[in-house]
Amino acid sequence: MGRYLGPACRQCRREGKKLHLKGVRCETAKCPLERQWRNFPPGMHAFRGRRRQASSYGVRLREKQKFKRYYGLLERQFMVYFRMAERARINTGDALLITVERRLDNVVHKLGFAPSRRAARQVIGHGHIHVNGRKVNRPGYLVSVGDKIGARATESSQKFIRATLGEGTPQVQPWLSLDVSRLEAQVVALPSSEDAQVPAVQTQLIVEMCSR
Ligand code: SF4
Repeated sequence: MGRYLGPACRQCRREGKKLHLKGVRCETAKCPLERQWRNFPPGMHAFRGRRRQASSYGVRLREKQKFKRYYGLLERQFMVYFRMAERARINTGDALLITVERRLDNVVHKLGFAPSRRAARQVIGHGHIHVNGRKVNRPGYLVSVGDKIGARATESSQKFIRATLGEGTPQVQPWLSLDVSRLEAQVVALPSSEDAQVPAVQTQLIVEMCSR
């Protein structure tokens, strides 16, 4: 499936929010949203500091785009998750968040095996990640409770993941448990919508837009 290959920071500038798409760089002063002279929408007609008043459709569209960009989803993938969420017996917005949180690229990033979701896609695509002892190279694989996620048992994969993980024990969310010595994690529960930490996204507006 295709993916966006353009500049990541452009997406944050469009949304006017830090979407943390580039890992460590996002926490530094190099982030364009930290610089006053770069904190404006992309495009040659976007005058500095000016954002047009959005229509109600525009507000909802921006919420959806922000969500898709945060998780690196294209429209078709997003709609597949949305239809799954609609069929769930809980609030559709919460179900949407829980479903995308279960994506393997998100889990690999949250375990600290990759500095960003984009990097996690690459790590998975290169076959460094095993799920339940088998190589999985699909970033969109949805993990389930009990799944064991670990680095491939080769020297190069272990070295690579350890270098990304750094020293010490990373803080992982309560629905995951990580054994740093074995570079293996287990999904101990399904994530909750609070675990998602998407920057200021109102899922209710996304549901209103996509339910039409
Ligand atoms: Fe770029 Fe990260 Fe800043 Fe977004 S948060 S603009 S990806 S550096």
